[in-house]
Amino acid sequence: MTSRPAQRSSRESAAVSADHARRLRALYRHLAKHFGPLGWWPAESAFEVIIGAYLTQNTAWTSVERSIANLRAYSALTLEGVRKMPVETLLLLIRPSGYMIRKAAALKAFVAWLDAHYAGSLDALASVPMEQARLELLALPGVGPETADAILLYALHQPAMVVDEYLRRIVTRHGLLHAKPRHEKIQSLAVAAFHDDAPNSLVRHFNEFHAVVVEVGKRWCRPVPRCADCPLAFDLAHIGGKPVGNAPPATKPKPIS
Ligand code: SF4
Repeated sequence: MTSRPAQRSSRESAAVSADHARRLRALYRHLAKHFGPLGWWPAESAFEVIIGAYLTQNTAWTSVERSIANLRAYSALTLEGVRKMPVETLLLLIRPSGYMIRKAAALKAFVAWLDAHYAGSLDALASVPMEQARLELLALPGVGPETADAILLYALHQPAMVVDEYLRRIVTRHGLLHAKPRHEKIQSLAVAAFHDDAPNSLVRHFNEFHAVVVEVGKRWCRPVPRCADCPLAFDLAHIGGKPVGNAPPATKPKPIS
């Protein structure tokens, strides 16, 4: 049975408003209905998810797809493929994703760590408590909270809440958290939104939650928000009809003729 995500000590002080958590759950419910199942992560294996989680850092997904296609052509989308491949070749294949020297080294480090501590088995990694696996992932080069949680959720099917820039924008613009919230605070709010859901439904919900947040972020909640057409615009009524701190651009006044 899937366990409820533990509240880490760093998050204990990150108390969030129950009302705001309920609002975020309502936003998710609305988006899940709007988009339907999105079937994330777009990958054919758990290890391909992990490669994608590393490569997508600071990069558009379209660039990641080109790198993944290169790796596929070289049969390198497996642990064995990355293990055997010289790092010089690996960095050339992942070049479209940018930061290839750092990302190639990080991928090699992940495989070496998995080999040393889990006999090269993702199933063995998935069998340890989520918080332990998360701490170990965070100790690896090139792994921050977003990458660690994406690996836990989408590759290892653990109830880890993925927090990204898109979610930060949505929760701050809707006044659910104040400006510049810490990662832990956003994660606490998002986990609290699913407090009343059955533990064995959390992996499915967290999977869909991150997927719909990314869709909203890519299409509407951009650096300059496009609220007029956004499916979440209904919630702005809670905060006076426009997003907090980052209003849509004003219409340019017409020159007087
Ligand atoms: S674009 Fe506007 S309505 Fe949509 S999520 Fe962002 S702030 Fe909310």
